[in-house]
Amino acid sequence: MNEVTLAIIKPDAYKNGVSGKIIDRIISEEFIINEMKQIHLSKKMAEGFYEIHRERPFFDELTSFMSSGKSIVLSLERENAVSKWRDVIGATNPAEAVAGTIRGQFGTNTGNNAVHGSDSPENGKLESKYFFS
Ligand code: ADP
Ligand code: MG
Repeated sequence: MNEVTLAIIKPDAYKNGVSGKIIDRIISEEFIINEMKQIHLSKKMAEGFYEIHRERPFFDELTSFMSSGKSIVLSLERENAVSKWRDVIGATNPAEAVAGTIRGQFGTNTGNNAVHGSDSPENGKLESKYFFS
């Protein structure tokens, strides 16, 4: 059964000019791009998206970073989309991400880690609705 996951090419990757490389990777990993848009998130929209992390010490840093410049948001579909995309992007901390993963290739540190991926099929749907209602 196909699943949906939400991917975000975060402002660091966008600024570094690697959006095209990341989109190529998405296509070569056989995801269907159901929706895609370029967006400069407001602080409020970033806070809403990361609501689950509101009490974390890095919440302000995270939402300031996510609203610091343009991003590309994509709703992706394929078999096991959520776990497959998490495998392709790698660990949250790029220093711990396996070689060849997107965060391993393009991430700088735990905060500036190039891409987002949903953590469950349920959140894949909810997060896609957040951007593509
Ligand atoms: P993931 O994006 O791998 O699912 P989390 O859901 O735990 O990771 O965190 C969401 C995002 O918050 C991370 O991708 C990262 O950008 C940021 N983040 C997580 N932990 C930290 C931290 N300790 N310091 C700064 N930013 C963090
Ligand atoms: Mg997460």
